Amino acid sequence: MKKTLRILTVCLLIATMVIGMAVPAFAYSTVAKGSAGKDVKTLQTMLNSVQNAGLVVDGMFGNATLSAVKTFQRNNGLDVDGIVGPKTWAALQAKYKSGTSKAASTLSIGSGRYKPGSLSLGSSYSISGTVKSNYKLTAVTVGVYDANGNQTAQVRTAYPGSTSYDIHKVDNYIKFGALAAGSYTFRVIATDASGTTKTLVKNSFTVKAPFSNNTSVSAFQKTALANWVKPVKAAILSVPGTGRAFGAYRTSSRSHAGIDYYVSGGSGTPVYAMQSGKVIEYISDFYYGTSAVAIQHADGSIARYCEISTSLRMGSSVSRGQQIGKIKANSLDGGTMLHLELYLGTASGSLTNSSNTRYDYVSGQYKRRRDIIDPTFLLNLK
Ligand SMILES: [Zn+2]
Repeated sequence: MKKTLRILTVCLLIATMVIGMAVPAFAYSTVAKGSAGKDVKTLQTMLNSVQNAGLVVDGMFGNATLSAVKTFQRNNGLDVDGIVGPKTWAALQAKYKSGTSKAASTLSIGSGRYKPGSLSLGSSYSISGTVKSNYKLTAVTVGVYDANGNQTAQVRTAYPGSTSYDIHKVDNYIKFGALAAGSYTFRVIATDASGTTKTLVKNSFTVKAPFSNNTSVSAFQKTALANWVKPVKAAILSVPGTGRAFGAYRTSSRSHAGIDYYVSGGSGTPVYAMQSGKVIEYISDFYYGTSAVAIQHADGSIARYCEISTSLRMGSSVSRGQQIGKIKANSLDGGTMLHLELYLGTASGSLTNSSNTRYDYVSGQYKRRRDIIDPTFLLNLK
């Protein structure tokens, strides 16, 4: 009798151990990015089941698996370290067994204000609209992307942790009024706990300057190349890659703000208006005894013709191809060139601005207004 009991006890003990070993979380090894093998396959299968992660079950722990693991950890109160150890395994198994969370994600956005359309420079726009899902929203990214699809400074990401989120909550942080003139898209991109990520809104809009119709340098260039005429017909020295080029070194804090149509011994060479417009600036002594005029065109862009002599004055109207002056030798070294600067017309104020350090369309420092653009393409004018 005693012996039977002992055997029974031992049997029970063994049985308990066997049953116990069939379930525990630590049956799986700890896996992390770079791991591979059977346990990673199991992990991927569980993540697909538990949160519709959409992973390829290949047993390779890569970035997609890492992202799905982090989403799972975030939504289950675990340390979001991307490492699948005993705690994460246990939580995964619990969810996997209960067979919950298998429904397809219903991630979407309701009606609201997220079509900025056309805005004038400096004006604000208020956003709203409720992002919803049957899963908790783990991230909602809202904001403005440039014409190349890159984020501007006007993008914010919220981590709601709930199934509903009104983008109006980040409205204060997205400053449409701080955007330079140009073309943009407004986007709302959301991820929910199922691991589903959707671009819910992708609406194009433009920011227009009140004094310019131009919203992109490339569109402006195309129009100019099709309609403008050469400012200097005489043969000029090579410009690209020389000190005559836009952006060429001048001082440690200033680069060349234009291009030089350098005509050897060219004092008196005629200079023509590339496009019709009105003189908005006349500087009698622009550079060592030479003058400059800035002509604004109907589209708002401005060409500044410098190191010339001219009889034009503020308010004068000029027509395309009209002679507006002559190249004049400067008194520093007798150099004879048309120094030509170009502005898109999307900013206001003086064209020369020695304190300006911000440029919308070019990089570097020019001591000029922020809407200066590279005029090199004008060398291709017919
Ligand atoms: Zn120059």
